[in-house]
Amino acid sequence: MEQRKKVIPESYIPIEASRTLRMEDKDYLLMNDAMYTFYERSMGEFSQFFMALRDEKKILGCRCSACGVVRCPPMLTHCPDCAFAPTEPVEVGQTGKLLSTPPITYFATSMFLDKAPFGRGRLVLEGADTALSIMLYTTTGILTPGIMKKGTEIKIVFQDERTGQISDIFGVPTSELTPEQAQKPGLLASELNWAAVKEPDLGQATEEAKRASQGTLVELEALLKEMSASKRASKAIENWKRTIAVKTPAVEFGLIIDNGRIWLERGRPQSSDFVMATEDIRVLLDGLDYKGAITDAIVKRKLWISKNIEFVTIFKLDRLARFLAREKKEGAAKG
Ligand SMILES: [Zn+2]
Repeated sequence: MEQRKKVIPESYIPIEASRTLRMEDKDYLLMNDAMYTFYERSMGEFSQFFMALRDEKKILGCRCSACGVVRCPPMLTHCPDCAFAPTEPVEVGQTGKLLSTPPITYFATSMFLDKAPFGRGRLVLEGADTALSIMLYTTTGILTPGIMKKGTEIKIVFQDERTGQISDIFGVPTSELTPEQAQKPGLLASELNWAAVKEPDLGQATEEAKRASQGTLVELEALLKEMSASKRASKAIENWKRTIAVKTPAVEFGLIIDNGRIWLERGRPQSSDFVMATEDIRVLLDGLDYKGAITDAIVKRKLWISKNIEFVTIFKLDRLARFLAREKKEGAAKG
């Protein structure tokens, strides 16, 4: 049976341990300990809206009984424009248009880390007069600027497992869906074709580029060896396991991360967790060599990855590069 998700994820809970802190020539012992409290939170008069998300896959708005304005989300029980006339719940559509071009969050707080990158959309649904704040995703790989803008038509998608909160829903561009999906009320995340992303066209490599890439591969192999050997650097990829299929016009290989170790395997890997594609393999080498972050390369569209949720792996690769660079710098200062 699948384990139920906990309010505090296992990975956030510190291990039982202690450390010594030296201050002014004296040692002090620090212990990991905990202080916590759990509570139940009432959604109060907005319960209906959240229960409709959870149980019926419906989006509710509220209509003013006097002026007829439909607000979504229905966060007003009385209309401020009509001497506080009562509002009534009304179902709104599940497609709408973006009121403004959505900003994209790449570097999220720990609470949203596993959700980044995401767009922060203000979506006016059909039948509503106000905008709903909603997280936006694309099924075409990583979310980069330009995919959605003011006026883009967006479809609401429901998470398969819902608890009755706003993150039970998110939006994707209607243009990425089949006509059936676009029309279907209560479309589920599992019905989307996340796997069939279109890889960017990388073009053809010249013979010279192919030759040069062999040298770059050797450099990359040496760097990865250093990373795996460094206790400090390899902490960045502790307990992480991924096979990345790296594609460039000149060369293809597998980048393997396995619990603190990282190496490459020449040739196309038989299976992979996600695809990384770039016109120039040096973009990846520079990132790992701490000459510009790989996350930046993605935002600037110099490097593409096939799965949005794998941005977390990219974070880890950037940390790996940073940790190794720091260790080398300190080693050089000591030596
Ligand atoms: Zn009103």
